[in-house]
Amino acid sequence: MTETVDLERVLRDASLRVTRPRRAVLSAVAGNPHADTDTIIEAVRQEHPAVSHQAVYDSLRLLTRLGAIRRIQPHGHNARYEARVGDNHHHVVCRSCGNIADVDCAVGEAPCLAPSHHHGFEIDEAEVLYWGVCPDCKDRLAA
Ligand SMILES: [Zn+2]
Ligand SMILES: [Zn+2]
Repeated sequence: MTETVDLERVLRDASLRVTRPRRAVLSAVAGNPHADTDTIIEAVRQEHPAVSHQAVYDSLRLLTRLGAIRRIQPHGHNARYEARVGDNHHHVVCRSCGNIADVDCAVGEAPCLAPSHHHGFEIDEAEVLYWGVCPDCKDRLAA
């Protein structure tokens, strides 16, 4: 799953340039789905040692704001990033280790969960976090 947004188009639409840090961060996020900031910094700097930590932070923030990547912050865990955007998928989070996996939309098109009351809002997305224990932690806890 390395298909990402068209970075050039997204940045051009925002009147911004494609820079090395921006490109490097997007590809690091695409290559490491649900990675936290430290993992992304490491991945970027492995290929581009000249890119600073600050440039990675700034690019993460910018790309998130532009919708090129998505930020997931499960309560009690570090923020994670992914380049799989715009498909209204959900996540399952391990309570124990914070491991995250994708859960495709439950039923039909977004929002796949019809709210019991929409309060007059026009709703276009449902963001669901399923919590549980991942297979590794289940094995570890059973051992
Ligand atoms: Zn786990
Ligand atoms: Zn995901």
